This record gives sequence, structure tokens and C-alpha cells, in this order.
Amino acid sequence: MNFDEYRKHGKEMVDYIADYLENIRDRRVFPNVQPGYMRNLLPESAPIEGEEWHRIFEDIERVIMPGITHWQSPHMHAYFPALNSGPSLLGDMLADAINCLGFTWASSPACTELETIVMNWLGKMIGLPDDFLHTGGKSKGGGVIQTTSSESTLVCLLAGRTQAIRRFHERTPGLQDSEINARLVAYCSDQAHSSVEKAALIGLVRMRFIESDENLALRGAALEEAIKDDIKLGLIPFWVCATLGTTGACAFDNLNEIGDICMEHKIWLHVDAAYAGSAFICPEYRIWLKGIEKADSIAFNPSKWLMVHFDCTAMWVKNSCALHRTFNVEPLYLQHENSGLAIDYMHWQIPLSKKFRALKLWFVLRNYGIKGLQKHIREGVRLAQKFEALVLADNRFEIPAPRHLGMVVFRIKGENDLTERLLKRLNHRGNLHCVPASLKGKYVIRFTVTSTHTSNDDLLKDWAEIRKVSTELLEELNIHITDRARVHLKDTREKNEAFGSSLLLANSPMSPKIVNGSFAAIFDADEFLAKTYAGIRIASQNSPAMRRRVRGILMSGKQFSLDSRMDLVFHGLDGRDSGSKNHAITEDGEETWEGTKGSF
Ligand code: PLP
Repeated sequence: MNFDEYRKHGKEMVDYIADYLENIRDRRVFPNVQPGYMRNLLPESAPIEGEEWHRIFEDIERVIMPGITHWQSPHMHAYFPALNSGPSLLGDMLADAINCLGFTWASSPACTELETIVMNWLGKMIGLPDDFLHTGGKSKGGGVIQTTSSESTLVCLLAGRTQAIRRFHERTPGLQDSEINARLVAYCSDQAHSSVEKAALIGLVRMRFIESDENLALRGAALEEAIKDDIKLGLIPFWVCATLGTTGACAFDNLNEIGDICMEHKIWLHVDAAYAGSAFICPEYRIWLKGIEKADSIAFNPSKWLMVHFDCTAMWVKNSCALHRTFNVEPLYLQHENSGLAIDYMHWQIPLSKKFRALKLWFVLRNYGIKGLQKHIREGVRLAQKFEALVLADNRFEIPAPRHLGMVVFRIKGENDLTERLLKRLNHRGNLHCVPASLKGKYVIRFTVTSTHTSNDDLLKDWAEIRKVSTELLEELNIHITDRARVHLKDTREKNEAFGSSLLLANSPMSPKIVNGSFAAIFDADEFLAKTYAGIRIASQNSPAMRRRVRGILMSGKQFSLDSRMDLVFHGLDGRDSGSKNHAITEDGEETWEGTKGSF
């Protein structure tokens, strides 16, 4: 392909990509193919002679697309997001063209320098203490872009292991590294990602899985007990992984408590915030980062929720010397005039070579700005709240763990088998895609808002699909669970004494306004409003204007029905209003348009 052909076909490819992303709703999100489907579509050997480009290009739709799970689809709710965006794709287009390998500063100075700068930008954006930033010699800390969270976890476990072995050598000289290694023990919660277990397998160290509490969080007391037991057994506790945003339910370990224990026992504390880390660019979510100053390392994936496409994992350490000691091999051919004066990222990672990933991150941070990225995160959370409200309004389902950020876990009440069957059917139909998790023995469907283009309408469509398939399933199995909660007055009084006499109206068949008053009645009024304000931007909930408005509703005597203000609460949620496609209501009551903006 010569340059003119490259120009022509490059433009065609950009058009194809833009069309693909713009019209992704038209495609079935989950492919309908069987293992080996491609064998029948492609020859057994590579072509002897080069082929015309147009023949290759045509095969994208014929061969590749039928087997694609469309991760950018608004109906993709499996795993965690793996988003892309225009600036990110353009960044990699350039990085791929330059194709420098930034293992040392000298192997491509811009690659290393941009990475240190954008990692500082990003570290500040999520509120990391300065100890984690590149400060030109004032601290030993800094950030590096790794390929994945799994790799970051492994890198930090190996660094913690090196540190522990060194320290133990000082205390007890004469022992072999392997003898100390055999006594090392690491910890994580029973909710930690499988990559944490994998890191221990590779590092040849024991891993203790500590039982999480009722909120699926690892707590300091449970950790301390395990550590003390192991010390009594002659083991050496050396490394803990705290998860912020678990894979199963987006639960959060108690970093602050865990940090105290780790400091007391001189244990390396790594924070795996693979998905949730992106949310920390919004100050209101940094509550979960409390105690981060006690950690040694943290990693999250901008490649998940921050619209920087895969691969891009941001990892920071407080003491990069621990990485150097772990990964430092310096053959003559990798030494350069500025060795020791500039960062050589080959000492911060397992592979030697490094892609110019900082470019796409830089493009995204600049093109969206902090505000644009915060808006994107908050919109994902708002949509998840909306979905949560829909699930809560249907009595056949339950949400067994609190919703955090953009993920809701739900199940059909009853045996696990019911939810498992539901999920299989949903995925088989291909209109939406979810994956399951097991939370303390309960089988749940994880529903994550992933796409940047998800709109209110998309969610309503997904929910209608889930309801329809559930109804079919329950009918087939002859199981009757009413979808409307019937709550007896006595029970509601127990739940909330303050509801008082208005409940009489709510439960009165004579009251023409009551559609679903009993649903409102099972909740504390504030809780109900908070949960169902999915139609209103979450940022507005705590504003004085919104508080005044809510108080107004509560004081107006209409509390008994709430549905008299259902236009406000459920606006755009039930899809009856054909003009409500992407409505959000601001605190001033003005309607705005959110969701599909045609940009990416
Ligand atoms: N840690 C957590 C909490 C995750 O949820 C995931 C994946 O979703 C990972 C680690 C692994 O991420 P990666 O694919 O970047 O290794």
C-alpha cells in the first residue's frame, strides 16, 4: 500500500468506524455464532500473493462482525465498561504510526516525558497525595501506564515481595531468598478479583482470602486477626490488596482501617480500583479513597470508564525504588548517557518494550477536560440509579447489594436457578448482554451502564426486555410473584411511623390519585425520593433548590400519593411520553437533553 492508497483507505476506514459507532444500536449486542464459526469463512493458509485492499475490507462485515460482542453498544451491560472515544482513537492512530518503544528515556524521550506528565495530571485529578506523583526528586513516587490492572497487581506484589525479603534479610541474615519467600503471606478479601489470586500464584506466595462483611467489604479487624494468626504460625505477612469497586458488586473495602493495620505491620498495601478509580475524578466519590495516604500503590483503568480505549492502566507507587530493585536488569545495550537522570520505565514494568499509550490519554484529558469527564461519570451513575429505580418498582426482583456508581446487581426473588435461567435467555436473545456474579451464595445479574451513548430510552428498552423474559419464564415455571408490592398498613407503620394518616389515603381505593401509593409507602419518604429521583440529575439532589422543592412536595399534603408528582420523579422513565427520549430535569424544572449527543 503506497501513501496515496493509505490516505484513501485510511479515510474509508475512519468513515467505517464512525458509521459503526454511530449506528451500533442496529446490531445485536451479543453474537449468534458457535465456536469455530470462522473456520468455514477463511482459508486454511495465508495467501501466497497479496490481495486487493477492497477484498480485505469487505471481509470485516462478512467474517469479523458476526462474531463481535459489541462492547460499545448501549445494550452492553456485562463486565465493566471498555469505552473508547474520538480523541482516544486518534491518539492511538498517531502512536501506532510513530510506533516508538519507550523502554528507556533515550529510546524515545517524548514517550517517557509525556507519560510522567499525564500521570501527574491524572493523579491530581483523582486526589492522590503528592507522595504518589513525580516531583523531580522530592519524592520517590510516581505514575506509570501499565497494560492492565492484573499486571499492576502482579508488579506491586513482586515489589512488595522484594521489599519484604530485603527487610527480613536485614533482621535474619543468612537465610536464602527462597526460604523467606516460602513464609510470605498476602491478603485480600473474598470479593477480590481473580487477578489478585493469580498474582500470588505467579509470585509463589500464600494468599489468604478474608471474609468480607455484610457490605462485602474487607474490614480492618478481620484483617488484623488473620495477620496475627499467621505471625503466630511463623509466617511473614507482607502484602495486602484492598479493592475499591469489587467486580461482583462494586463494593468497597475499608481502606482507612486496612491502611492502619498495614502501617503497623509494615505491609505493602496495594489498592485495586480497576473500575471505580475513574469515578474519583468526581470529588463526591473520593470518600472511598479515605486512607489512601497509607497505601503503597494504587491502580485503576482509564481504559474502563474514562473513555481511553484499551489498553491503559494507570498505576502509582509511593516508592519507585522498590520497583527498580525488583525489575532492574541493565545490559549494556540499554544504557544511555542519561541513565539515572531520567526515568527509564523498563524498571517499572515486566515487559521491556512500552507503547506510546500516554498520547491517547493526553488527547482525552485535553479534549474532554476534567469537567467533561466528570459529566460523563455522573451521567453513568445517574443512569444506573434510574435502572435501580425500575428494578425496585417491580416486586418480583431484589437488589441484594447496594448500588454503587454505575452498576446494579439484581435477581429474581427465590432460587438461584430462576435468575440463572433468566440470564441465559437474555443473553441468548442477544438484545442486551449481562454477566452473573455470586454474592455470598446468591446468584445475581450484574447490570453495568457501560456505553457513552446509553440513553433513557435504551435503559427502558433493556428493562422491558428483562421484564418480558422474566414474565415468560415465571409463567412457564408456574411461579407467581406479583410485580406490584402489596403492603399492609400495619407493615408500613412499622417501617415508618412518620407516614401517619396520609397512608390512610394512600391505601384507600376511593382515592383516585393513588396508582402505586403502597410502593411509596414501603420506603422512608426521603429514601424513596432519593432512590426514585433517577429522572433528575443526581448532582441536583442535595442542592438547596432541590431540597426546597422536595420539602415542598412533602409539605404540600401530596405525600400521600407521590404519584401526583410522578411526572417529576418518573419523567422520561416510563417511556409513555414520546418526547421524553433523553430528558433530564434540572433543579429549576427546566428540561435538558442528555444521552445521545452524536459525539464520541
Ligand atoms: N480488578 C478488578 C476489581 C476488576 O474488576 C478487574 C476487571 O474487571 C480487574 C482487576 C482486571 O482488570 P484487567 O483486565 O485490567 O487486568
